[in-house]
Amino acid sequence: MKKTLDDVELKGKNVLIRADFNVPLKDGEITDDNRIKAAIKTISYVLAKGGKVILLSHLGRVKSQEDKETYTLAPVAKRLSELMDKEVLFSDKTRGEDLEEAVNSLPDGEILLIQNTRYEDLDGSKESKNDPELGKYWALLGDVFVNDAFGTAHRSHASNVGISEHLPTVSGFLMKKEIEFIGNAVDEPKTPFVAILGGAKVSDKISVIENLLSKADKVLIGGGMANTFLKAAGHSIGTSLIEEDNIKIAEDLLEQAEGRLILPVDVVVAKEFSNDTEFKTVDVDNIPDDMMALDIGEKTIKLYEDALNGAKTVVWNGPMGVFEMSNFAKGTSGVCQAIADLDEAITIIGGGDSASAAQQLGFEDKFSHISTGGGASLEYLEGKELPGLKAIDNVEED
Ligand code: AMP
Repeated sequence: MKKTLDDVELKGKNVLIRADFNVPLKDGEITDDNRIKAAIKTISYVLAKGGKVILLSHLGRVKSQEDKETYTLAPVAKRLSELMDKEVLFSDKTRGEDLEEAVNSLPDGEILLIQNTRYEDLDGSKESKNDPELGKYWALLGDVFVNDAFGTAHRSHASNVGISEHLPTVSGFLMKKEIEFIGNAVDEPKTPFVAILGGAKVSDKISVIENLLSKADKVLIGGGMANTFLKAAGHSIGTSLIEEDNIKIAEDLLEQAEGRLILPVDVVVAKEFSNDTEFKTVDVDNIPDDMMALDIGEKTIKLYEDALNGAKTVVWNGPMGVFEMSNFAKGTSGVCQAIADLDEAITIIGGGDSASAAQQLGFEDKFSHISTGGGASLEYLEGKELPGLKAIDNVEED
């Protein structure tokens, strides 16, 4: 078990918090401040316990001087201050005397945000390559390290893993929730456990399917990746998106699954990859040669609803169709609705497109957990050890 905020003394300490303030920006304005809002619980807790808060985060990628201007964290400091109705000091420097002075003069109960950690990538990718000197330097600014940035947990960077090597490290509330939900689903799921996987490509999710097949009672497949499985199962798939190189792997997975890998029985097909083209629903045996599958059909939605019935743990990653186009969004919204309707199940969305689909469709409050990290949650579901998680101290067992 990983240590949390309750396992460390915070009073009078310089508490370094690695947050995820990687917010979308347009012309220097924050277009979605959910990540900032989500960080407040951990920040407020540390302040309430009498700690000083020193925040670190990355924002975008910094490869040039121009990127430095685009990806300054200054607007985040302003927004956080508005949201918390409290002053948030901002250090425009990621190292040096000015930063050290700002840290040393920070009063108890106050907040300092340090400039974008990726400014340190401009000169040799020090942040992203976990330069040991950089992690050590940042660690010297604090007494305790709180990692609350799950979205970077699959990366070994100076601002998550590097700092951890020199300070007692615990998880913040957001990180704790990710570990509780995704970790438990993968390690000790309540059964029946049903996983639903979609999205564009099988290649991105082979390891996830393999890992989930070893734990789940059923794995339901949709989206573009279903085509490769349908082909492997002997169906003609017309002009649908296909990964020829993965047909053999799909065949092996179907064999290994012994009936637990469930494929669409009907699909919505169209002449072109467009919302303004002719479309219809056909059984998977009847996909016309000149049409492509862009969504799962109604019989499949029903089949998947039935498969979900009674489930106690559900993990969903990847849309069932091209949900960005209204004609091909029914499969994704249908499955989303079916999961949302489950009363007694722990329901988890593994970030990325399925999280945005659930939000767009207005279901975000209906799930037990929507992961904040797309890449990180996929790697977690693959059963991989995430470096950012590994670096958090374990609770000593008696
Ligand atoms: P991923 O990033 O792998 O989760 O894939 C998400 C993308 O897959 C979305 O942009 C969907 O539009 C796309 N997608 C879903 N189903 C299909 C399909 N049948 N054919 C092509 N693209 C699809």
